[in-house]
Amino acid sequence: MAPVKTRLATVWLGGCSGCHMSLLDLDERLLDLAGRIELVYSPLTDVKLFPEDVAVTLVEGAVCTDEHLELAGLIRRRTGLLVALGDCAVSGNVSAMRNGLGGAWPVLQRVYGEAAAGAGPGEPGLLPRLLDEVLPLHQVVPVDLFLPGCPPPADLIHAVLLDVLEGRRPDLTGKLRYG
Ligand code: SF4
Repeated sequence: MAPVKTRLATVWLGGCSGCHMSLLDLDERLLDLAGRIELVYSPLTDVKLFPEDVAVTLVEGAVCTDEHLELAGLIRRRTGLLVALGDCAVSGNVSAMRNGLGGAWPVLQRVYGEAAAGAGPGEPGLLPRLLDEVLPLHQVVPVDLFLPGCPPPADLIHAVLLDVLEGRRPDLTGKLRYG
């Protein structure tokens, strides 16, 4: 009988995708992981709905929109081990720089100028709405593991995934850095 694979999801909230690029930097180690992991949701796949019973979810990016807020809650309910991957998920980082502008509307005005009126909320549910404040993941849902770095190094992501696959709680003492 084939070994049971660990159900892994990766999620891209308000980030630059650099944390996912770091994940892909595992290179040939991905082939080994592919034999042990079932990737059930990710920007790297075409799955539209976050599934049930996910063992581990890596979340890149901060919570920036109402859509992110809703997805974060769903992920938390359906995930065993929730990992904040990278400085944006851990602290807000670059994504939270707009918080200094004082809300969603000033941001839209700053970006779109006079056209900002057309970039407003519009029909409810049609487009994600910016939150007035960008939030790190742990301010929205409980997080089990914080993996800072901008992005976190591929070697560190690999070490954490191996620990999780082998049933160990990752020991990140002395291995973490921001930026
Ligand atoms: S932590 Fe850095 S690399 Fe990761 S999404 Fe944020 S800005 Fe991009």
